[in-house]
Amino acid sequence: METKIPKNHPRYESLMIRQRLATGLSRGLVHETGLIAHGRGEAFDYLLGEKTIPIALDAEKSAAARLLLAKHPVISVNGNVVALVPDDCVKLAECVPAILEVNLFHRTSDRIQRIIRELLDHGAVGVLGEHADERIPGLDHDRGLCEKQGIFSADVVLVPLEDGDRCESLRRMDKFVITIDLNPLSRTSRTAHITIVDNVCRAMKNILIWVEKLKTYNHSELELIGNQWNNKEQLHAVLQFISRRINQID
Ligand code: ATP
Repeated sequence: METKIPKNHPRYESLMIRQRLATGLSRGLVHETGLIAHGRGEAFDYLLGEKTIPIALDAEKSAAARLLLAKHPVISVNGNVVALVPDDCVKLAECVPAILEVNLFHRTSDRIQRIIRELLDHGAVGVLGEHADERIPGLDHDRGLCEKQGIFSADVVLVPLEDGDRCESLRRMDKFVITIDLNPLSRTSRTAHITIVDNVCRAMKNILIWVEKLKTYNHSELELIGNQWNNKEQLHAVLQFISRRINQID
């Protein structure tokens, strides 16, 4: 049963996010290890001040430009992402437009179907992932399974809450990889072309706002925004932001 959390609780947002994941677990969307992954993310969110920092907002803008420039963009989702932000996944896919594909490390056909159903219930028109007919080269585990019409042939992939292995393999396939990861030190963060160091709950909304705004821009204006991102430099800036915050606490 869900605990009622008062809106004036100082940790309201964070507790609501936990509750959404716990509900996602009981509904068979989230795998139990997803809760552990979330805990790692939460710790970094705490260090960031649980807000979108300016560097992340810039990353979200560049990511939006790249998604708009793509010929075949795909948003790859897992159980945590769908339990937390189903509406934003659907709206973003519609607005870009991009394909939604479910990709799971702990893959069972029951969980894939539940996640697809959840997205369809939130208004998605079609969701890939159930009929994997291709493999990402170099990945032996189930995250390597994907659909030819989706991730396999994508030129730009948005992979929120990714693991490092798949991120590296997607890059080896010459895809442009955008990730959302609160941990600026993860392998994923260091491998992606654009890393958005922000909570997926804030990041997906911000990317959507940028996509809506940038839709009227022409190709060269979008290229200017999408190309100006230097991921290594920006991750360094995030770490500096965190260490400044830590040093300011008395
Ligand atoms: P890597 O292989 O890239 O080093 P990892 O082994 O830490 O990563 P996972 O355990 O799969 O990867 O965790 C996924 C990542 O998602 C973690 O780095 C965590 O910080 C991040 N994460 C978890 N919850 C959220 C969230 N709500 N928003 C953004 N990032 C999150």
